[in-house]
Formats: sequence, C-alpha cells, structure tokens
Amino acid sequence: MTDTGQLQQKLLPLVIAGLAVVQIGAAQSSVGGTALAVHVRNYAEIDAKRLVKAESVAAEILRKAGAETRWAGVEDIPPDQTGNCAEPSLTSLSDIRLHIVSSTMAERLALPGNVMGLSPGSGPDRRLVYVFYDSVRELSQRQLQAQAKGDIPLRASVEQILGEMIAHEIGHILLNLPSHSKTGVMRGDWDLKDLYDIAHNSLFFTQSQAEIIRREVRRRSNSSVAVS
Ligand SMILES: [Zn+2]
Repeated sequence: MTDTGQLQQKLLPLVIAGLAVVQIGAAQSSVGGTALAVHVRNYAEIDAKRLVKAESVAAEILRKAGAETRWAGVEDIPPDQTGNCAEPSLTSLSDIRLHIVSSTMAERLALPGNVMGLSPGSGPDRRLVYVFYDSVRELSQRQLQAQAKGDIPLRASVEQILGEMIAHEIGHILLNLPSHSKTGVMRGDWDLKDLYDIAHNSLFFTQSQAEIIRREVRRRSNSSVAVS
C-alpha cells in the first residue's frame, strides 16, 4: 500500500534476492489471448487451500474489472552444477510476479508496520508486486476485536483480505497508479467499512479504473516487447 522511493530503495535487496531464486510454474511463458498470468511465490508458506481461496478472490475482483487471470504456483529448484539459478523466461508483459512475504522479510526492509503490500518501481511496464502476509493477518485480528465490541456484524476472512490486497497491488501496476483512490479496492487505508465490504465481496475497482485495466491488459497482451 506504500509506494515511496525510500521504500523502493529498501526493497532492492529483496528484489535481488528474489531474482536469485529459480522459479518454475505451469504458466512460465506468455499467456495467450488477453489474460494475465500471475506467478505466485509463496515465501510466507501460506496453507495451499487458503492461498487458492485468496487467489480466487483476487481473480474475481480483476474479472469484474475485465481482466482474466491465470494463477500458477512458483517453487524453488536447486541451482545447477555451476551454482547458477537461472530465472525462467517470463518474457511477456502479461506475466505478473506476486511475492507473498512474511514479517521477517518485511522487517529486513525496515518497513512500517501498517504496510501490507508494495508495487516497486515506476512506469507502465511493471510486473512485480509484494504482499506482506503478517500485516494481512494483523488486520484480521483487529477485526476480531471490533466484532467483539459489536462494531461489525460480520468480519472478512483472511483469504478475503489477502485476495483484496493482491488485487490492490496488481491494480497499482495495471493502473500505473502510485497513489490511492477515495473509493473502491484502491483505497489506501482500509477501515471497518472497507472490511465490511470485503466481507460481503463488494469492494471492487471503480468503473473508470476498470476501463483503464481492460485497456492495459489488452496493451500488455498485444505487446511484442520481451522483458527480462
Ligand atoms: Zn497501495
């Protein structure tokens, strides 16, 4: 949710560390049509069922904005005999990397406690986003307290919050938006009202954002530019 130059500088070592990891997955190459391929690196070791649910939440939010997505888990494989860990060729602008990281990794970056995600870099061709899983869980815990006090009748699940955060961060790079909007999933600071909407699966991109996202997905799908 934070996109400052300072944070990006702090993020650089993690980006480099991420590049040192060999990644494999079912969607290693460019996807056909106008779908995005989201390559998920589960550094936080989230339970597989929970992760699939969160991905389905994010996929539905993006689908309602007009962006179809395909999701593939990414796993480590050992270095080759020379010790090299070659990055697989995710050469299309339609290949999005999602790294879900733990609090330990977030602490290494000295990030503020309220940061739940990052979309590092700038410009229209970004393909990497981070979500900080422990911050998502902390938000879920705060909901429990609000529910105990009777402030909210229904709380969003961890999967719903995580899925919304994933959609939010992917939204940053598809919209090429460094800031946040006043309404919808691209709001910056989620309050109990937002969490209520998340619980009811009703926090989405705005109509104008959806139009930009549809154009952007088409642009990325039609681009012949190979990126590394
Ligand atoms: Zn944000």
